[in-house]
Amino acid sequence: MKRNIVPDNAAVSVPCLDYKARHVLNRLTAYGRPMIEGSSLRCGCFHCGSTFAASEITDWMSEEDGADTALCPYCGCDTVLYDTEELPVSTALLSSMYTDWFGSEYRERKKAATYVPPFSGYDDYQRRGIVFLLEESPLYQQVGEVELWRFGGVDDRDWPADDGRSAGDPDDAPDEDARAEEEDGSKGEPEEDKEAGGLMRIVIHGEGSASPGYEFVDERDHVLPYPLWGQRDRRLLRELLDTYGSRLMGLLVEPYDSKLRLVVKLDDPDWIGEDYPE
Ligand SMILES: [Zn+2]
Repeated sequence: MKRNIVPDNAAVSVPCLDYKARHVLNRLTAYGRPMIEGSSLRCGCFHCGSTFAASEITDWMSEEDGADTALCPYCGCDTVLYDTEELPVSTALLSSMYTDWFGSEYRERKKAATYVPPFSGYDDYQRRGIVFLLEESPLYQQVGEVELWRFGGVDDRDWPADDGRSAGDPDDAPDEDARAEEEDGSKGEPEEDKEAGGLMRIVIHGEGSASPGYEFVDERDHVLPYPLWGQRDRRLLRELLDTYGSRLMGLLVEPYDSKLRLVVKLDDPDWIGEDYPE
């Protein structure tokens, strides 16, 4: 699908759509031609997440009982909102509208997703329009799923990244320094801005020891602060790491999900040749 998703800056508030806001927004999506055409309004589509200038709209749907309705120049849907003082167009607003209106489509896409861009926390997820960007990518294949130990919450600083971490060798020490530096350098940032999300590489601590520790690090180098749920999950991860090595990756599909998908990158020609002889 063609789209133009522009992430919001951190100052944009993530809307909570109450009855009144929904009513206002529903009215904006229809009969808008006199208001939009020739204006300099900023518009957005809550089906594909694109934002665009009013002048980009070229297709209109004629209505029997009123003025024409705008169609999105990117996906062609009649789901176009425009800026109002009360509810300015933002990617966070479009994300909220999408999950509200296209909830079943969203759930289906989420269920099949094998790629999700990085995000940290719920607000970041909405502001970056991740709901539009998660996809069933031909480059990745899901090979397993593990559960995460979510108790303790993100604010519990004493919680270890993984219960095997403390058993790691002394080489772990520089990691601790690096982490302390990162924490110093990001003072004042909301706590949630550091949580990992999306596609993550797996870092093993104390490899070869009886109980190695696992850390999941996303594309922005944020570390997932939750350990695996239990022995069964650790065993499955170990088995899949033995099979797939560094091609195995973690995938957190949405914020605070208690399940972590395990996917394998398929674009390594050597590996595909090895396992799938033609
Ligand atoms: Zn669209």
